[in-house]
Amino acid sequence: MLTNDQLSQWDRENFFHPSTHLAQFARGEMTNRIVTGGSGVYIEDRDGTRLLDAFAGLYCVNVGYGRTEISEAIAKQAKELAYYHSYVGHGTEASITLSKMIIDRAPDNMSKVYYGLSGSDANETNIKLVWYYNNVLGRPEKKKIISRWRGYHGSGLMTGSLTGLELFHKKFDLPLTQVIHTDAPYYYRREDLSQSEEDFTRQCAENLDALIQKEGPDTVAAFIGEPVLGTGGLVPPPAGYWEAIQAVLKKYDILLIADEVVTGFGRLGSMFGSDHYGIEADIITSAKGLTSAYAPLSASIVSKKVWKVLEQGTDEFGAIGHGWTYSAHPICAAAGVANLKLIDSMGLVANAGEVGPYFKKAMADALGNHPKVGDVRGEGLMLAVELIQDKDTRTFLDPSLLSGAKVAAALLKRGVIARAMPQGDILGFAPPLCLTKAEADTIVGAMSEAVSEVF
Ligand code: PLP
Repeated sequence: MLTNDQLSQWDRENFFHPSTHLAQFARGEMTNRIVTGGSGVYIEDRDGTRLLDAFAGLYCVNVGYGRTEISEAIAKQAKELAYYHSYVGHGTEASITLSKMIIDRAPDNMSKVYYGLSGSDANETNIKLVWYYNNVLGRPEKKKIISRWRGYHGSGLMTGSLTGLELFHKKFDLPLTQVIHTDAPYYYRREDLSQSEEDFTRQCAENLDALIQKEGPDTVAAFIGEPVLGTGGLVPPPAGYWEAIQAVLKKYDILLIADEVVTGFGRLGSMFGSDHYGIEADIITSAKGLTSAYAPLSASIVSKKVWKVLEQGTDEFGAIGHGWTYSAHPICAAAGVANLKLIDSMGLVANAGEVGPYFKKAMADALGNHPKVGDVRGEGLMLAVELIQDKDTRTFLDPSLLSGAKVAAALLKRGVIARAMPQGDILGFAPPLCLTKAEADTIVGAMSEAVSEVF
C-alpha cells in the first residue's frame, strides 16, 4: 500500500487542483487531505480523522455519504451497459426514467431535460438555447445576458463571465462582452443602512429596469439568477425580490434562467427554489443534488414555451447542433434515478425544511450577539455567518487577517468542515439534507468555540 508521504509527494508533483493557491500548495505551505470514505454527514481521511462535513462536499452530497442504494445502482448499470450515447434518439432505461422523474418533480411549466455533466456546462447549454431561441424568433439582436454581482454560474468562458465574483474574472480576460451585471440582492450589504427591505427590493427592480432601458430592451435576451445566492455569500433574497424582478423581465420579453444547481432537489425545503419563491423560470439549471454527486450529471430543464420554439427551429434549420458525448451517460443517469428515489424515501426535502430553520435559530442564538458576527442568515439548509469589524457601521474586517479562513480552520480542529466563502469573511454551511437536529447542535457548538478562539 502506498504511504501517505508517497501520495502527498505525487499530489504536489502531478495534480493541478482547482480553486487552489497553486504556488503555496506546491511549496507544501498548505496541507493536503486525502479523503477515503464517508457515512451520513461524516467523511474520513487516510489518517483516520472523522469530520462532520457541514458543506456536503461542495453543497452537493445531499443524501449524505455511503448510500449503497446509489452505489449499487451505479455498479449494476456499469455491468449491464457502461455507456451508450444519446444522440439521434438513443437512450437507456435509466436516462428515460430519470427524465420522467425530473419533469414530474419540476414546476408545471417545464417540458424537457437536456443532460450535461456539470453546472457550468448546463449553463453554457442554457445560454446557447437562449440565443438559438431568439434567432428562431427572428430577433438576432436580442442576445445580451444579465446576471448579478455575487452570482455564481460556473467557470467556463460564458459561465465564468456570468459569475459576478472578481476572483473568477481577473487575469482570465472575463467577462465576455455579451454579459452585463446588475445588483446583488444582498440586503445586509446595502449602501443606505436606513433603507427598508421593501425599498431595497424596489431599488433592485428599478435599477434592473434602468439597465435594460440603457442597453436597449431589444438587445437583452435573458436574466440568470440563483434563487438564493450561493458562492457569493449564501444570501436569501430580500422580501418580494423575485416577484419584482419577474415583473420587469416580463415587461421586456426577457427569459429567466433559474440557476438551481445548489437549490434544486430539496436544499431549501422545497423540491426547487422556483417553487419556494414563486419563480416561473423559462429554463432551470440543476446539477449537484440531482445525483448527490455520486456521479457527475447536470440537467437543463426547458419550459414548454422555450421547447416549442426549439422544435420550430429544428423544422426550419435541421437537427440541433449541440451535443456532448456524455450527455445522459447511463451510469450517471442510474445514479440520478437511485438518488431521487432516496430523497423521497428518506423524506429529505421535508427534513431540510424542518432542520434548516432549527439550525439557523440555534446559530443565531449562539452567535447573534457576538461583536464580530454581523449577520446569521439562511434558508432551508443554506446558512451563512458573516463576520464583521464593527456591527453598527458594518465595516469589513481587514481582509489580510483572513478571519473567515481562520474560523474555518478553528472549526476543522473541532471536527467540523465549513466553507470560508471566496469573497468576504463569510462562513458557509450547507450540510447533507439528512442532517439531524443533534448534528446541527454539534456544528453550532463547534462554531461558538471557533469564533471565541479567533476573536
Ligand atoms: N451554478 C451554481 C449556482 C453553482 O453553485 C455552481 C457550482 O458551485 C455552478 C453553477 C457550476 O457548477 P459546476 O461546478 O458543476 O460546473
